[in-house]
Amino acid sequence: MITDEILVVKEVSYKENDKILHALSRMRGKIQLISKGSKKSNSHLINVSQLFAYSKCSMTLSRDMYILTSADLIDNFFNLKNNIDAFFYGNYILELISYVAQENEYDSRIFDMTVAILKHLSSSSNYYDKLTAAYEIKLASMLGYKPDFLHCVSCGAEINTDARFSIAEGGLYCSGCVNYGSGINVTLNEIITMERILKTRFEDIGSIEVSPKIYKIIRDFLFYYIGKDNFTTLKLL
Ligand SMILES: [Zn+2]
Repeated sequence: MITDEILVVKEVSYKENDKILHALSRMRGKIQLISKGSKKSNSHLINVSQLFAYSKCSMTLSRDMYILTSADLIDNFFNLKNNIDAFFYGNYILELISYVAQENEYDSRIFDMTVAILKHLSSSSNYYDKLTAAYEIKLASMLGYKPDFLHCVSCGAEINTDARFSIAEGGLYCSGCVNYGSGINVTLNEIITMERILKTRFEDIGSIEVSPKIYKIIRDFLFYYIGKDNFTTLKLL
């Protein structure tokens, strides 16, 4: 018997009464589980076998498929289903994480952060754009692509003026080195804002002023490093 925390990122109907759940697990990365009988209205697995369900579960492994035996729902982020904007952002997060997550490879920080952003999106804070940008840049960092906003990628000098941000180099060219690299011109204010988004916790993100340019840089940065930019759910945002 195996226990783990799981977040359902996709549910697929299977046979007459069953579902196959695609889930992010805290300790096993991406997994698939059969949830037997979970389409029946009296199933004890009905609540934990829905999209967005976050639960602590017990399962057994049969060949390469997990079989869900029991689960306790921790959260289903219910309010996501009451707010169309929050719902779309939540779906984008699930699509993103199901693309990024790997089987047999896990990072419990990424799992915890994903649960945390869904909690914030569903608590109707209205900062969906800011929360999502913070998730994107923190995710890039956790995957090993942390941008450096403090030092020049060329000479190492501390950044304290306007500079040029290179996505490919993962950092800034200072005013003295600006001719050595290509990228996007950014003001010191914009640099400070990006650093704050990277460092600030979700609960405090609302106070940061974020421009469309910064949203775009952050998203382009993540997409460059994960090698995908055509997420279906992004068209809905
Ligand atoms: Zn420099």
